[in-house]
Amino acid sequence: DIRRPAGVSTAALLLTAASGGGIVAYADSSRAEEASEPPPRKKKVVVLGTGWAGTSFLKNLDSSRYEVKVISPRNYFAFTPLLPSVTCGTVEARSIVEPIRRMFDKKRKDVAYYEAECFKIDPSKKAVHCRSAVGTNLDGNGDFMVDYDYLVVALGATVNTFNTPGVMEHCHFLKEVEDAQKIRKSVIDCFERASLPNLSEEEKRKILHFVIIGGGPTGVEFAAELHDFLVEDLVKLYPAIEEFVKITIIQSGEHILNTFDQRIAVFAESKFQRDGIELSTGFRVIKVSDDSITVKCKSSGVETLVPYGMAIWSAGIGTRPVITEFMNQVGQGKRRALATNEWLRVRECDSVYAIGDCSSISQRKIMEDISTVFKVADKDNSGTLTLKEINDILEDICIRYPQVELYMKSMHMLDISDLIKGGVGDANKESMVVDIEEFKKALCHVDSQVKTVPATAQVAAQQGYYLADCFNKMDHCVEHPEGPLRLTGSGEGHHNFRPFRYKHLGQFAPLGGEQAAAELPGDWVSMGHSTQWLWYSVYASKQVSWRTRVLVVSDWTRRFIFGRDSSRI
Ligand code: FAD
Repeated sequence: DIRRPAGVSTAALLLTAASGGGIVAYADSSRAEEASEPPPRKKKVVVLGTGWAGTSFLKNLDSSRYEVKVISPRNYFAFTPLLPSVTCGTVEARSIVEPIRRMFDKKRKDVAYYEAECFKIDPSKKAVHCRSAVGTNLDGNGDFMVDYDYLVVALGATVNTFNTPGVMEHCHFLKEVEDAQKIRKSVIDCFERASLPNLSEEEKRKILHFVIIGGGPTGVEFAAELHDFLVEDLVKLYPAIEEFVKITIIQSGEHILNTFDQRIAVFAESKFQRDGIELSTGFRVIKVSDDSITVKCKSSGVETLVPYGMAIWSAGIGTRPVITEFMNQVGQGKRRALATNEWLRVRECDSVYAIGDCSSISQRKIMEDISTVFKVADKDNSGTLTLKEINDILEDICIRYPQVELYMKSMHMLDISDLIKGGVGDANKESMVVDIEEFKKALCHVDSQVKTVPATAQVAAQQGYYLADCFNKMDHCVEHPEGPLRLTGSGEGHHNFRPFRYKHLGQFAPLGGEQAAAELPGDWVSMGHSTQWLWYSVYASKQVSWRTRVLVVSDWTRRFIFGRDSSRI
């Protein structure tokens, strides 16, 4: 079986065959030269994870430039913002997932997918160790290794119980599609159990007490869904036990939705109070047993036992074991998430990038970086620079650290002369000489203004898109860098790319009863019934395919017409 290499004529191949395949004698010498130089090997890109970050990267990557391999134990993408709707059957689980192979196929991507879990990243060998999630391979144990030139870690996060005793054993979580399906069954279970004969009223109250631990967006959204499910559907089917139903949210902070605008938190709290959802703010859960939750009042220190029928823990995200192990290897052992630079490359680790919930951009060095730039610019060591020089440096710093620009804007310091004590006159501004230390003092608030980028789907998707864009124009940007000055390494030249910038597009909090609250860009806040319709349109438009869009919209319509299904299947 003779395979014809690219650019080799039949005559040449015949000669090769005639020579016994040993010494190759090509008839056409120019072709021979071509054939002796095999096409450059495509760099191998390995992507771990098929969540928001991983799929956004893959969708936007020009896969013809790389040999791409994807590893994830989940062969589908899940639209997590609609997970709370799955818990009560407002939307079916299959309506919010899209098979990963279908996503590649539609985009005509040449991508290899392995349904497996990565259990070790080995940056020294540039390889990842994986275990098949669907059975064994020829080696018999299902383990295999994949090497890479570039690794994109998009493994997301896991639940964080803060080592609270009993949480793992007795609480539900809401992180994966399977979690939502389990919750749906458990809610119905509670109603069926409370309907059994020979139960005391106290017992019924306990069984029908639904406790949500964590008043963040997920906890609040689930509470709202559950409330709607109870009042719109279940009370009609279980009228005898309606009076025993109770929903409680336990929140350690003083308010629920504390990452939202305060107006939204106030609106949500008053709506929940009207709905009869109990808010226990200022309480911390310290233990969960099979029938009660021990809570401690943060102000008085008094401990109370709360009997419950079903508890859902949504009080934060933690680190996956594979990430913890990797962080230990690269000297980041004490962190919650992988620290990357502003270009999303894992700090102190070549060719490994981290995006989404498993990563966080560490920008604690702003003042250090600013000092370095000043030192470089102050060639004669005079301790001063002209205003023009400072302006140029700041422009560069603003590309690197968007929050410096935001800070200056928020403080109305668009003109940097305002930053300097005493200000300056208009004349000869540019050539005015400024004391560097004085200027640094004026800027020193910036470090404290650094906000960490939140762990949301929006951030994960934007990071995936940004990184794919960098990979797509890698060759071009090596020759024509577009980024700010380099401060590390040789300290010379420019970074190839502009750093990642997160653009906040707003966030929603559905509050039940066809009402929602939204924080929109530009400090806009919108609440009420009309916002719920905005929520419907945004979430319908954000679906990853027409298939899921049609399914989700038809689920909403079905719910409007027939209500939710309460079968325990
Ligand atoms: P994920 O989406 O979690 O993806 C991680 C991927 O890694 C998965 O494919 C997983 O299978 C894979 N993986 C895990 N372990 C391994 C392993 N060992 N080897 C290989 N692969 C592995 N954000 C918003 O912006 N708006 C919202 O309204 C919103 N609502 C939410 C509601 C709920 C109920 C939840 C749970 C989250 C919500 N979020 C929302 C947050 C959002 O879902 C996350 O921020 C987002 O999923 C993070 O994306 P990611 O790609 O980093 O991680």
